[in-house]
Amino acid sequence: LTTADVIEEHRICVCVRKRPLNKKELTMKDLDVITIPSKDVVMVHEPKQKVDLTRYLENQTFRFDYAFDDNSTNEMVYRFTARPLVETIFERGMATCFAYGQTGSGKTHTMGGDFSGKNQDCSKGVYALAAHDVFLMLKKQNYKKIDLQVYATFFEIYSGKVFDLLNRKAKLRVLEDGKQQVQVVGLHEREVKCTEDVLKLIEVGNSCRTSGQTSANAHSSRSHAVFQIILRRKGKMHGKFSLIDLAGNERGADTSSADRQTRLEGAEINKSLLALKECIRALGRNKPHTPFRASKLTQVLRDSFIGENSRTCMIATISPGMASCENTLNTLRYANRVKEF
Ligand code: ADP
Ligand code: MG
Repeated sequence: LTTADVIEEHRICVCVRKRPLNKKELTMKDLDVITIPSKDVVMVHEPKQKVDLTRYLENQTFRFDYAFDDNSTNEMVYRFTARPLVETIFERGMATCFAYGQTGSGKTHTMGGDFSGKNQDCSKGVYALAAHDVFLMLKKQNYKKIDLQVYATFFEIYSGKVFDLLNRKAKLRVLEDGKQQVQVVGLHEREVKCTEDVLKLIEVGNSCRTSGQTSANAHSSRSHAVFQIILRRKGKMHGKFSLIDLAGNERGADTSSADRQTRLEGAEINKSLLALKECIRALGRNKPHTPFRASKLTQVLRDSFIGENSRTCMIATISPGMASCENTLNTLRYANRVKEF
């Protein structure tokens, strides 16, 4: 079974990506405790100690739709995760792809790409690769006939508030009308004609995201970034692809922090990631009740969780180091629960 078949059958596909040990981890002589023995299995080998101080490895096995090891490229990850969802939006559907994991595990590298030049895999991420395929599909005969336009939005959700990354971080209101249609009021939608247009928007959005911040990662680890590719036909929505770089899941633990602001942010992140899990699970089970309103993230994505034609994939990113073991196990458990029906 390919991941495309899995998505067709279950509407949800969950994959894991392990990144290589980084310089810092290598300097600290951190151990790689993750193995990927086959293309759908992840093993965690956690070093433990018995009461008599003898050491042993506790091995835990997790199974997913696909597991990417540290040699995988963004292109490969994309091909097995978001790629099958490009068709969905041409067939009038809603597609969503999430990157979930602890800060530093590779969410932004996977979704936004890495243009720093410090990596061999200096490459486009899922945002740009998906956009590229959208433009390729548009050129195909049968879609040419129906005259579709492509638009992009880029916003972030921080502490339950929405900010437009394509409009100088304007704070936006979210409204729900009587028909339960959710609208982000005033969100800028830019028409895009080619992949280069999209790359420029990603750059604009990213610099907007980090402007005024002391450290890029400190801020991005606390906010969800949402990049959307929207197909319109005569102004009307035809399909929508939401690509999401989630807040670091370890932030949920900040709920006991001494700092009030940090504590509130942690609670908000916790709430949104729990609501997200429930909403995705409901998607696979056709459950009538879905807790969209439990968080801003799920409220904004409401229309992506309903309807016959909604498809989702999750890329759970994990760090290989022993120092990250606890966070890694939390990520794998969460990803497992998303899949479990
Ligand atoms: P996150 O967004 O989850 O906090 P990042 O994507 O910023 O994490 O990744 C942290 C660091 O690790 C970055 O310097 C990034 O370039 C590097 N990195 C992440 N994933 C990979 C990978 N698969 N291959 C090589 N480097 C990676
Ligand atoms: Mg990031």
